[in-house]
Amino acid sequence: MLETATKVIRKIEDNGFKAYIVGGYVRDYLLDIKSNDVDICTNAKPKDLVNIFKGAILPTEDYGSVTIYLKNTRFEITTFRKEMSYLDYRRPQKVIYIDDLREDLTRRDFTINTLCMDKDQNIIDLLNGKADIKAKVIRTVGNANERLYEDALRILRAVRFATKLDFNLAPNVIDGINNNKHLLKNISYERKKEELDKIFASKNAKKGIKLLIDLELDDILELNNLKNITNTDSLIGIWAMIDIKDNTYRFSNNEKELMKDVRKALTINNLDPYNLYKYGLYVNSIAGSIKNISKQDIARCYENLIIHSRKELAVQPDDIIEFLNISRGPYIKEIYNELEKEVLYRRLKNNASDLKDYCLKHFS
Ligand code: ATP
Ligand code: MG
Repeated sequence: MLETATKVIRKIEDNGFKAYIVGGYVRDYLLDIKSNDVDICTNAKPKDLVNIFKGAILPTEDYGSVTIYLKNTRFEITTFRKEMSYLDYRRPQKVIYIDDLREDLTRRDFTINTLCMDKDQNIIDLLNGKADIKAKVIRTVGNANERLYEDALRILRAVRFATKLDFNLAPNVIDGINNNKHLLKNISYERKKEELDKIFASKNAKKGIKLLIDLELDDILELNNLKNITNTDSLIGIWAMIDIKDNTYRFSNNEKELMKDVRKALTINNLDPYNLYKYGLYVNSIAGSIKNISKQDIARCYENLIIHSRKELAVQPDDIIEFLNISRGPYIKEIYNELEKEVLYRRLKNNASDLKDYCLKHFS
C-alpha cells in the first residue's frame, strides 16, 4: 500500500506539483496499525488531478476530494485549502485553495492527524504530531474551544480517536467539549452515527462508551440508556441495547433485522438447538456476549446441530406434498417446522424414511 501511495505522490510531483500522504495513514503507520485508505494532500487542483489520473473520480461537490482506486486501495486526494467561516457548525462556508502545506495542516482537526510523508517516506511533522502520538494525546490544532465550536463533529472524532487508539483527551479538549457539546444537536444523525459506529465497533468500545457518559454526551446524542447497557464488543449488540427514538438514527434494513434478532435472542436460551438453528451463530453469539455466555460453548453447540439450514433436512416440501398426497398450502410450513424441531432435538433421525414415517403417522 505504501509503495502504491508513493507512486501516486511521485506521479503528481512529476507533473510539477507538491504532494504528501497525510492524516490517518501516517498516524497509523507510526502506530503500526493497518490503514484501509490513504489521504493525500497536494497543491494540484482537482482538474489537474483528473488530467494526471485517467479514471479519477471528480468530486461531486465543489472543493471535494478526487478519489482514485489502485490495487483495491482508495486514495483520496485533497487540494491544499483554507476553510473560512463555518456554516451550521459543520460545513465551512467558504473554501479557498492555497499553495502552502503548513497552512493546509492548520485547518485539520488534531495534531496526530497533521503528520505527512513525502515521496521518499520521510515523515514531515510541522505541528508536533509525533510528540502527541508518543504521549498518546488527542490535541486540537490551535485553540480547542474554537476548533470544536466551528465543527462540533470534531467532538465525536476526538472520542473516536481516543477510543480506537486508546489515547487521552488533552485537558483543553475536555474543556472545549464541555463548552460546545450542545452544538452536537445541530449535526445530522447520519454523521453522528458514522462516528458512533466506529466507536462502538472498536475493540476498545468500553472506553468509548465510558467517555461518552463521562463527558455527558449521551443525553445530547439521545442515547438515553447508554449508562445501563452491558459491555460487549459487538457494534450491532450495542445498538440493539440502546433505546433509539423514532426519526433519529437511521439503520439499513440489514442492521434493523440484526438488531431485532439480537433483541429477541437476548430473551431466549442461546444454547438451545432450535434457537441456534433459527437465529444462527452470529446473532446468538452477540446475545451470548451480552449475557456472558462463553463464545466457545455457543460455537460448540452450533457445530453439533444435526442440521444448520433447511436444505440439510432429508425431506423437502415437495417430498412432503408427494408422500402425504396433499396440495400446497401454509400447513406444509407447519409440518416442515415440526420436522425441523424433531430432528434438532434428536427425537427423530434425519433420514428420508424416518421423516416420511413420522409424517404418515402424524399428518395423514
Ligand atoms: P480514518 O481514515 O482512520 O478514519 P483519518 O484521520 O484519515 O482517520 P478522515 O476522516 O479520513 O480521518 O480524514 C482525513 C484527514 O482530514 C484527517 O486526518 C484530518 O487531517 C482531516 N479531517 C477530517 N475531518 C476533519 C474535520 N472534521 N475537521 C478538520 N480536519 C478534518
Ligand atoms: Mg482517512
